[in-house]
Amino acid sequence: MADTLITNAQILVPGGWQAGDLLIQDGHIAAIGEIPPGTLNVERSTFNAQCTAVLPALVNGHTHLSQTFMRGLAGGRPLLRWLKELIWPLQGAMSEEVLELAALLGLAENIRSGAGTVVDHQKITRPSASLRTGTPAFTEAVFRAAKKSGLRVTIARAWSDRGNGAEAPGAILGELESFFGQETELVKFASGPLTPWRASAETLQKTHALARQFDSFTHIHVSETAEEVEMTRKETGLRPVAWLDSLGILDEHCQIVHAVWVDEDEMALLAERGALVVHCPVSNAVLGSGIAPLKAMLQKGISLRLGTDGPASNDTQDCFENMKTALMLARAFTLDAAVVSPRQALEMATASNGLAVGQPADLCLVNLDSVWSAPVHDLDSALALCVRASDAQALIVDGEWLMKDGKLVSLDEESIIKETQNAVKILRKKAGLDL
Ligand SMILES: [Zn+2]
Repeated sequence: MADTLITNAQILVPGGWQAGDLLIQDGHIAAIGEIPPGTLNVERSTFNAQCTAVLPALVNGHTHLSQTFMRGLAGGRPLLRWLKELIWPLQGAMSEEVLELAALLGLAENIRSGAGTVVDHQKITRPSASLRTGTPAFTEAVFRAAKKSGLRVTIARAWSDRGNGAEAPGAILGELESFFGQETELVKFASGPLTPWRASAETLQKTHALARQFDSFTHIHVSETAEEVEMTRKETGLRPVAWLDSLGILDEHCQIVHAVWVDEDEMALLAERGALVVHCPVSNAVLGSGIAPLKAMLQKGISLRLGTDGPASNDTQDCFENMKTALMLARAFTLDAAVVSPRQALEMATASNGLAVGQPADLCLVNLDSVWSAPVHDLDSALALCVRASDAQALIVDGEWLMKDGKLVSLDEESIIKETQNAVKILRKKAGLDL
């Protein structure tokens, strides 16, 4: 692999910004700042990063790629009605070919948003009667798309063993184990129970133990709405986070998505157990679910990341908009303009405190030479408050360019959009929805 040299950059490193160059060798960051001449190979490509910020590639901690085909349809419905009336029928009508296309579109959107890592909560698991395919076909479709994209993707294979669409616990465990065995360097798997109210205690415990065995994790929607908290409380006598803790699941291998309606005791538990919270502020606002207590969670030392959630409830995967919204809502919620500094927002959005020598080369280059960012007084503020997804000009993952000079490298964006327009017309008919 030839070296890549990025010159004239402003580079986000632990503790601040460093002006200079950045050298990538063998997929890793080999040097930052002034590059000693002896370290440079003759065979290299050089990229002038003037007027751009170089930062760790963003992390989209929670999305549903299948929902790229369902943007703009929420129509004022709250979460449970939105699921029953729109999302479940449309997902039920998707073939694996359509799902692969939807995933490619969603991954292309993440690349354009500067995200180098994506966690897809892969929800389509029901067998399709017309195609006589079993459940693995859908996850395999996303797996193919993920491998084509060149991104780091974790596919949290969704499941439920209670209620509508319930699967047999043995089938869930068998499929998960098979996918764990197929992981590549960049594409990984996780267990993705949909919600506490659609999963049995026993299967949660067994899938979590399996995920731990493969150094993976459980990724689950928890306490997105107040109604859901009541459902679990009535059934188990415990609030959802406390219930998961009583099962032994709340640990450093657990990712809690949303956590909008968590009380003080639950937040203390999340911090103590080292569970990660994935905060999805735009989605929570679009569906009228509420505002997560971000200030309190940060104060308690909970590990936090940001997720866009699926495009059906966002309605994009713009990770920069998501970052700004996290900051804005936290301030509006607490009437405190000092809550969530731009640097904290950047750290949540990148799951990192900066680029460092020796790390895998996952980074994005963001244009600051625009009418909405100029003049740049402060790089943190420019990135957290001014920049938009379309300002991400280049993305490198594992040392490979996935986007360069504003053009996608790994995926054919034009043909994905064209195929999408055709496929979605058929899908709407098949779902029988009067939209
Ligand atoms: Zn979600």
